[in-house]
Formats: sequence, C-alpha cells, structure tokens
Amino acid sequence: MQGQLDMEGALTARDRVGIQDFVLLEETTEVAFISNLKKRYSKDLIYTYIGTLLVSVNPYKELDIYNKKQMDTYMGVNFFELPPHIYALADNAYHTMLTEFNNHFILISGESGAGKTEASKKILQFYAVSCPSTTLMSTVRDKMLMSNPVLEAFGNAKTLKNNNSSRFGKYMDIQFDSQGDAVGGHILNYLLEKSRVVHQNHGERNFHIFYQLVEGASDNLLQQLGLERDCQHYNYLTQGECATVPSINDKNDWKSVKNALQVIEFDEINTKYLFEVVASVLHLGNVQFDTGNKDQALLNDNTELQWVSKLLGVDAQSLQEELTFRKIEAKWEQVLSPFTTDHAIYARDALAKAIYGQTFTWLVHRINESTENKDASQKTVIGLLDIYGFEVFYVNSFEQFCINYCNEKLQQLFIQLTLKAEQEEYEAEGIEWETVQFFNNKIICDLVEEKHRGIISLLDEECLRPGDATDLTFLERLEEKMGNHPHFVTHRLADINTRRTLERGDFRLLHYAGEVTYCVVGFLDKNNDLLYRNIKDLMCQSKNAIVSECFSNMDRGNKRRPETVATQFKSSLLKLTEMLVAKQAWYIRCLKSNESKQPGQFDEALIRHQVKYLGLMEHLRVRRAGFAYRRKYEDFLKRYKPLCPATWPHWRGFPSDGVEVLVQHLGYLPDEYKMGRTKIFIRHPRTLYATEDAYERC
Ligand code: ADP
Ligand code: MG
Repeated sequence: MQGQLDMEGALTARDRVGIQDFVLLEETTEVAFISNLKKRYSKDLIYTYIGTLLVSVNPYKELDIYNKKQMDTYMGVNFFELPPHIYALADNAYHTMLTEFNNHFILISGESGAGKTEASKKILQFYAVSCPSTTLMSTVRDKMLMSNPVLEAFGNAKTLKNNNSSRFGKYMDIQFDSQGDAVGGHILNYLLEKSRVVHQNHGERNFHIFYQLVEGASDNLLQQLGLERDCQHYNYLTQGECATVPSINDKNDWKSVKNALQVIEFDEINTKYLFEVVASVLHLGNVQFDTGNKDQALLNDNTELQWVSKLLGVDAQSLQEELTFRKIEAKWEQVLSPFTTDHAIYARDALAKAIYGQTFTWLVHRINESTENKDASQKTVIGLLDIYGFEVFYVNSFEQFCINYCNEKLQQLFIQLTLKAEQEEYEAEGIEWETVQFFNNKIICDLVEEKHRGIISLLDEECLRPGDATDLTFLERLEEKMGNHPHFVTHRLADINTRRTLERGDFRLLHYAGEVTYCVVGFLDKNNDLLYRNIKDLMCQSKNAIVSECFSNMDRGNKRRPETVATQFKSSLLKLTEMLVAKQAWYIRCLKSNESKQPGQFDEALIRHQVKYLGLMEHLRVRRAGFAYRRKYEDFLKRYKPLCPATWPHWRGFPSDGVEVLVQHLGYLPDEYKMGRTKIFIRHPRTLYATEDAYERC
C-alpha cells in the first residue's frame, strides 16, 4: 500500500514537473525528450540534466532562482539531491576540483541568443559569492565580476539574433587556492568582429559603448570629446537604423561601465585615453571625401579630421595625407600618389577598425593585470568558455564563416570528449557495449581547416597571390578543389533545385547545425586585414598612450608577412582545444526557445532542430547505457579502502581483486558496476555518493 502511494506520489510529481534527469526517462525517443523539456519549460523549470550534462532553455524572463539563498542551498550538496540548476553543476565542478586537485572547464554551447553568456555570468557570480574569501581576495573577485560589464560594452552588440550578442570569444580561468578561495582570474579573447565598427546590417547596432558614451556621458565630457548627444549624427551608428532599442538602457549602462572601470582600477588618465579612442572612431566615421580631378579623394571638410587628430594626439596634416595619399618610396625620394575616394574610405575604415580592435585587446590585458594573482603557490582553475554561437543571417560573410567554424570546432571537441572517447574507452577496457551511432562533424572541420586543401588554406593562397586575385577567383579555386565534397555547394556545382537558392557569388556549407550560404564578397580583404604601413607608423607616434602602445606592440610582433586573420584564428582555436583537453570537462547545452525573444514561447520545431544537431539524443543513449563514474583500480582502492576491513589498512593482492571485495562489501548490485581491464566503472553517481557519505563518516 505504502509502495503504491509512493508510486502515485512520484507519478504526480513527474506529471507536474517532468523528469529532472533524462537518463531516467522511460522512452528515449525525441518526442518524449522534447515533451519533457516543454512540460518543464511551461513551469519555468529551464534546467534538466542528462547525467551530469546540463540542458538549459532560454526563458527570456527574469526568474527568481539566482539569489543568495539558492546559492547557499546548492553549495556543497550532492549533485542529484536537488532539482537541476546551473549552481549544482558549478558546485560539482568546484568540489571535484578541490578533492582531486585538478583543473576543470565548463563548455557552454548553443546558438546565438541561447543563453551562453548569461550562464557564464551566473557561474562566475556563484563562485564569487559562495566560495570562502578573505577581504583581500574579495577585491580580486569584485574585479573579476566587474570585468564583465566593461568587456560587454566594448565587445557585445545588438544583432538580429540577440540584443546583447557577444562579438568576441572569451575564455576565462578562475583560479582557486588549495583552500578553495577564488584568488585570481585570467581572460583569453578571441577574434573580435571588427567589421562591425564601420558597418552594421539593417536592424543591428555597433558595439554598445558608442551609444553609451553618446547617451550617457556628461555634457562636459561630450564637449571635451567634440561629440553631440545624438547618435543620428554619426555615420558609424546609423546604418542599422536602430540606434535605440527598447530593452537597452544605454544611459544606465554607461553608469555601470564607468563604475566597473573604477573597480578594475582604471585611473583617470587611462579612462580619458579610452574614451578618446571611442570618440575618435565616431569622428573618423564622419570624415568624408569628395572626388576631385582624376578620381582623386579630397577631404570634404576638415573639422572632423581635426577632432580625430586632437583625440589621437597625431599631427592633423600627416593624418590627412595618410588618408588621401599613398606614399611610394622611390630611389631618392618619396612620391605621393593620390587615393581615389574608394581607397580613402577604405583607409579610413581600416584605421577605425584597427584602433578599436587593438584597444579591445589592450583592455583585456589591463583587466588581466588587475585580476592577476601574483602569489606563486599552486592553484587549480575552472575555465569558463563562452564563445559566439552558431549564426545564420540573410547575408553571411567572412565573420559568420569564422564564428561557425569555431562552433564546428567546439562541437568536435564535445564529440571527442564524450561520444567518441566514451565508447572507445569501453572498448579498450573490454566492457560489453553496443555502439551508438552519431554524426561526427570532423569532416566539416577538415573541409575548413585542413592544411593545403581546406578553405582557409585556399583563401590564404588567394590572399598572397600577386596580381589579379579577387573574391571571385577565390570562389573558382574553391569550386576546383572542393567540387565533390558532400558538405560544399556552389551555384555552378549545385543541382537544378538547389541552384535556384544560390547566387553566383555564394558558396554553401552544410554545417553540423544546418546549412549556411556565404557571400564571398569581402573575404580576401577581411582575411588580409591590411593597414597601410604609414598609418601604422603615424599611430605609433600618437600621444594617446593606449594607441601608441597598441600600435608599437603590433609592429614588434610583425613578421615580414603577417599571418592572415583566418589562419591566426585557426591557430588560436587549436591552442584553445589543446589547453582544454588537458582539463576535466563539464557541459552546458543552451537551447533557444523561440526566435522572437519572447517569454513563455516554446517553439517545438526550433527546439527539435537544436536537440538534433547538438547530438543530445545520442548523448543520452551513451549515458543511459554507460557508466557515469570510472577510476583506476589503484586510485579507487586508495581512496575507499578504509571502508572495508578486508582492504584496510593494506590489500596485498591485485588492486582489481581488492576493489571487487570492497564494492561487494559496500553492497553494490552486479548491475551497478563493471570491472574493466584497468578501471572500475560505476553506473550512476547516486550509488557513489552513498559511498562518499560512508567515507565522510568513517
Ligand atoms: P548567447 O550568449 O547564447 O548568445 P545570451 O546569454 O546573451 O545568449 O542570452 C540572450 C538573452 O536571453 C539575454 O540577454 C537574456 O535576455 C535572455 N536570457 C538568457 N539566459 C537567461 C536566463 N537564464 N534568465 C533570464 N533570461 C535569460
Ligand atoms: Mg553571448
């Protein structure tokens, strides 16, 4: 009777809130999976587990689940004892790090607008608030927390997908000492979408900081910077025709950024330089050219240029020359060859992008200096990876190509660390196993990045080829080399039906997350990212310390032929993955609930698509059939031998025999564990937690 009541109780609870861990779902069909997500979503339960992986569905509304009380509830509690929460995952990573004294990272993935950046902020807050701390360390934490509003102001923007879209990749190490205090932080930044500084698509904005400055700065500051309080006045702010966004309060955000800059110890002079850079970019965008004789570019009016030269502390006459003439070094003298208007605009935009991009990297360095822990004692880290999500727009360019390539790499890492490695380990350990099939996106990664044959290599070749290389010759080269690749299509290669949807200047990649059509216009330029030598030299002499420092550094690292943007990006991603595989991984998969950024809307088709391409069903199958915990016999025995008289204090036989005796003594059922060649595998952490509890008591 009692049993039945319990059963009924459980059933009603289940009915009410769905199942907290997909591993316990009765049917492993996609329909059951999505219906469980939907049921939970309708009750504002946005988190669900697949074992220790956390699935999160964007609620698009503030939920009261991130307060101090919740943090306290989740701190130090076994993972499965409370309802799923991002704090539980953060806490589990933290405690594993402390007991095993090793490094971890949390991979947060999902498409643009799915909730990755919010998730990473929640985790950082959890550590900052919940971990023990000394007064000294609490300033480091404040700095780590406050680096966020600053980097978001300079590196995020409104796009069609997300009003606060990260336009740079960010990996942040949070360092802990052996007591578990958060004692320092370090950020690595990846490829900022600089083109946004000079161009925005319809419905999108430039980086937040520009609007914040114009809307929020005091009259006095605006006057010093020569700015008007009107975004409409600036060419670089108006192309998207949406300078104001209802959900964004630039004025308030300006205050937060100013405050954050103080917390991270920006002194007055550096803050002044920083705003001068931002203002100089706005003025640059308003520098216009007329066309004179023989197409020659002539400065239309020099007020704006005067402001740029004042703010950057460079000579106005020289700046004007660099923007309208090319200097050619002849044998005995310098010859000035006038730019056409197009060239002058190109030089102007290149300068704006370079100044902004360099300043962004400088900002990250400064933040790192301020959160760096100089103490040499040994530390462990939890890394948070929050990178721009997969995105598809109406027109996709070089930037989307890089962003989506990055997402392919992260998916590949996920596959390697979970589906593939997991199954290979069972095989190696001789554990009976029915292989789960999954789509391995390595083929797409190779298509993009393979040496000598991949798209990036071909792009570089075209960029370096002297003479008549253009975006279209690049496309022709791709067609020649990739012709029959199953994930590559162009107009010429497509069948009749597909051809209707492809322009001649496009190529289409069939990404793991869906197909994306890229327009090749601008690929060569953006990949080269050239800045005229003389402009660089001029900037090195800038009286603005940020600009002179950045441009001098830029030069120092320069080889004769600088690496292209895509190749640099490729190597930075390679380094990132190498660093990550050396750490223990935790996963958060963020799902976008609807395209219109509305609360309460659960778009089933959209969710189904994401569940498919993120490989969640495959992951579930592997988890269900598999073993969540595994340890080498020696290690397992070393830790738990006090729990059994036969193994304590010494076990004299083979470690595996000792482990067998130990687990039988602990009452593990035959189905709960498996003995491999070198390791014990335990099906569900719940049983292990019981062991842990016994250990704590002993
Ligand atoms: P991503 O980084 O994946 O592109 P964001 O983390 O910036 O996406 O989320 C986009 C928007 O969705 C946020 O600005 C916020 O409005 C909403 N959002 C995301 N996660 C949450 C959450 N946990 N609670 C409330 N709103 C959220
Ligand atoms: Mg983001």
